[in-house]
Amino acid sequence: MNDKTISHELLLENISDGVYYTDRDRKILYWNKAAEQISGYSAAEVVGSHCWDNILSHVDSNGRSLCLTEFCPLVKAVNTEHPVQVEAFLRHKDGYRVPVMIKTMPVRGGDGKVCGAVEIFSDNSASLSMYSKILQLEQRSVVDELTGISNRRHVEYSIEAQLDFLRREAVPFTILMIDIDEFKKINDSYGHNYGDKVIKVVAECLKLNVRVYDIVGRWGGDEMIIVAPNLDSEQAVLLAERLRMLVERSIVPGPDKPLTVTVTIGVAQAKSDDTIDVLIGRVDKMLYAGKRAGKNRVIDEIV
Ligand code: GH3
Ligand code: MG
Repeated sequence: MNDKTISHELLLENISDGVYYTDRDRKILYWNKAAEQISGYSAAEVVGSHCWDNILSHVDSNGRSLCLTEFCPLVKAVNTEHPVQVEAFLRHKDGYRVPVMIKTMPVRGGDGKVCGAVEIFSDNSASLSMYSKILQLEQRSVVDELTGISNRRHVEYSIEAQLDFLRREAVPFTILMIDIDEFKKINDSYGHNYGDKVIKVVAECLKLNVRVYDIVGRWGGDEMIIVAPNLDSEQAVLLAERLRMLVERSIVPGPDKPLTVTVTIGVAQAKSDDTIDVLIGRVDKMLYAGKRAGKNRVIDEIV
């Protein structure tokens, strides 16, 4: 398709502003996709009704109803034959009020006479949408895409924060490093996509079985970390044992048959003079001691 073949309707369907037009009697003849998104009402629900049916129940910032009075911006545009711009609040299909910027313009027919009006409205919740964009960006910057648990950067940040807490307030914390056993074999036998599924199941199993303030993150590949505040070594070993058992008792639906996997977990208690590298080095050592000792086990510094 070249740009000459794009219909006006297609253009209207692809813009982010809500657009609708009405005849002189304010019967709605067209309602675009963005109008559906902003208001919650589909074209099928709205086309054929009248602006004065008050579906959107526009009010201004004083709560004054617009659609049933001479304040209706469509009426104004038709009567004055000039564009009108107002800030108002429409009622979303789900009931809540959405701030909108409304522009209405008279539409002239072939004979030059005003035969209706077009309304363009946009979501005016600038601060709100900015806030949700920031949340989205924040979300993207801390979450591992494959598993939905924290990414490595967020784990590092959490460890730094906990180290600070430990030095200032003497709040202890423990970290667990979890690595899937024989993961290469799974990848080799069933393919990378299946390997991804296994990582997701293990991540979910960890995430669902810790306390809300524990941070569960992906350190890389098949390796995950849990940062558990306020937990001494003994309690951390109990937690790690429980998680190890829960992973062992989980299943990953497989190409031929469901598969079970195991994990080895290293546990290390943070010390106030630790740097993040020193602490990670210690827990890594525990993890590899566990691997050498036969895998599917928990190894703690004190064991
Ligand atoms: P061990 O029992 O000693 O842990 O052995 P292992 O086979 O699990 O070895 P290792 O932990 O070193 O294997 C990690 C493998 O994970 C190597 C790499 O190919 C694979 N891998 C890394 N990232 C991903 C990923 O995002 N998806 C998948 N499917 N595989 C990954
Ligand atoms: Mg592994």
